[in-house]
Amino acid sequence: MQLEEIGEFGFIKSFAKKFDKLIPPGGHGIGDDCAIIPISENRDMVISSDMLVEDVHFIKEKSSPEDLGYKSLAVNLSDIAAMGAKPTSSFLSFAIPRTFTTEYLDKFIEGYYNLSEKFNIPLMGGDTTSSPDKFVINITVTGVIDKGKAKLRSMAQEGDIIAVTDFLGDSAAGLHAILHSNDKNSKHLINRHNRPEPYLMQSQWLCEQPGVNAMMDISDGIGSDINHILNSSNKGAVIKTEQIPISSHLKEYCKQYKTDPLEFAISGGEDYSLLLTANENSFKQIAKEYNRNFKTTLFPIGKITSKNEPVWTLNNKAIKKESGGFNHFFDSKICR
Ligand code: ADP
Ligand code: MG
Repeated sequence: MQLEEIGEFGFIKSFAKKFDKLIPPGGHGIGDDCAIIPISENRDMVISSDMLVEDVHFIKEKSSPEDLGYKSLAVNLSDIAAMGAKPTSSFLSFAIPRTFTTEYLDKFIEGYYNLSEKFNIPLMGGDTTSSPDKFVINITVTGVIDKGKAKLRSMAQEGDIIAVTDFLGDSAAGLHAILHSNDKNSKHLINRHNRPEPYLMQSQWLCEQPGVNAMMDISDGIGSDINHILNSSNKGAVIKTEQIPISSHLKEYCKQYKTDPLEFAISGGEDYSLLLTANENSFKQIAKEYNRNFKTTLFPIGKITSKNEPVWTLNNKAIKKESGGFNHFFDSKICR
């Protein structure tokens, strides 16, 4: 069978169950943004690993080595944020083509270091090897959290408000600009693509708030990522597309290219916004405090329902996710 027939998640599912019985009590394995390993009576460790492959996740000529170093770590830290944990270390492995210069790699490390320093996360190991052709980067990050406090994708409750922490679609439009338009006015969008901000402080705060239930980060686009929460929690959702936050930069870009910003916002990946669900009675207060603390908005975009299917609406009318509609720009790859 071709891998494409079952896809990335079907493939992972095909072997994940086999290992369940080897997981220690209190641990949590494949299926969330991080794995959870109990380390003491009152602390859990969380771990995540992510790989970036040249020409799959990045095009070397289209991003600076500093940005690539920064982003490689940022996307990993975003998975620590998704659990509500505090990051403690990173491990960096790469397979480097022989044609690479030390100057390029020094710059990569500079970008990686900038983000490490910002959140005080030491690089504590890794591996270096040669590659016959492409540059491959693999990063593992660890974090800690109070026992049993990590936010899982399976924790959404019926009636919860679904919220995101950022405008969606900027990163995808940034990628579109890098690949197609090279438009000087898209600097902001390109920067959002190259330098995503992991929501570490915000997520640790959100994790402390009673009423916050499920959490994950949006790496593949909300159109596909919401299904992870719904499938794990065995719930459905109504997503109000008119409430999906669209930045003025994205609106402007789409006006110019005669595109619907929702296409970028729903199908475009790599925003690394948090996606969370919170009890509807607590949500208003949480959003108010969030805004006071972080000077940014927690955007409600819908509600968790009992049915196991997301319903997308526009002004309270159900709309169809047509094939080729939301996926206009982004052919689904096997892995992202
Ligand atoms: P994310 O987008 O949050 O990084 P992924 O979609 O990459 O998560 O992975 C989904 C889940 O599958 C995660 O729990 C991840 O650890 C697990 N996973 C992915 N690939 C493998 C693999 N080759 N072996 C074991 N687990 C894997
Ligand atoms: Mg994730």
